[in-house]
Amino acid sequence: MFNAKLPLTNVLLFLFLSSYCNAQQRIFDVHLHGAQEPRTQLEDLAKAGVYKIAISTSWDLQQQYKEKDDFQVLRGLMVPCPNGKVPYSLQSCFKEGKEWPSLDWVEEQIKAGNINFIGEVLSQYYGISSSDSMLLPYYRLAKKYNIPVGIHTGSAGPDHGCPNFQEHLGNPSLMGTLLKQVPGLRVWIMHAGAPYHHDAINIMTNFPQVYTDISAINNPNIFNQEKFASIVKLFVDSGFEDRIMFGSDNSNIDTTIKSVSQLSFLTKKQKEKIFHLNAERFFEAKD
Ligand SMILES: [Zn+2]
Repeated sequence: MFNAKLPLTNVLLFLFLSSYCNAQQRIFDVHLHGAQEPRTQLEDLAKAGVYKIAISTSWDLQQQYKEKDDFQVLRGLMVPCPNGKVPYSLQSCFKEGKEWPSLDWVEEQIKAGNINFIGEVLSQYYGISSSDSMLLPYYRLAKKYNIPVGIHTGSAGPDHGCPNFQEHLGNPSLMGTLLKQVPGLRVWIMHAGAPYHHDAINIMTNFPQVYTDISAINNPNIFNQEKFASIVKLFVDSGFEDRIMFGSDNSNIDTTIKSVSQLSFLTKKQKEKIFHLNAERFFEAKD
């Protein structure tokens, strides 16, 4: 929309301010799920400065998330789906209520460019370890096609609808086995492993290709700002400022961005790394 009655100076000021704001806040949201109104969801994200997302949700809904103008979309593969369903929203992940999609089909979809990463891996919700042997063939496919894997860790909110969920299965230290069995696999620890963030740090120390996202912990209704700040500081002090990625996990986008923006111990450059530079490197890494 362009209001022809606006004086030219106002228009120029508006153009200057909007490009300035975009330059200030360029966001790659690596942790997003489906919404009832994808269009509204994407508009809100774009308004907040998000230009790229990594989304995982039911297969059908995921097809509605398309690239538009400069807005980029990476699509994941939720696996395994407890009772065939996406936790919380409880839509069927795949046709016929499958918990595990067939490997042939997954490979076809990767080749067709419909799957850009494996995740969110829901092993904890399913009641198995992230290194369970049932997951290994999927990890091997990811390695074969050089796409990353995002694994849910830490805890969970109420009413996820997954009866086999177990808290201790959210410990990132369980990833040690899979990282040894599929050497070089690019993995990101979703939710920073919190409250097992010290274990996340150990894994990241031992496996330099492992990154983390800070979704859920950057939501002040889940972790207060002080706790969030102490976890981010721990990762940065451990030498991982290049391996932390922003994610919103469908929490309010402005609030989750603000949680990072107001961290006074981070430099402008470090914030830029967290908001998009690290994720760009992680997702586009080539062999
Ligand atoms: Zn998660």
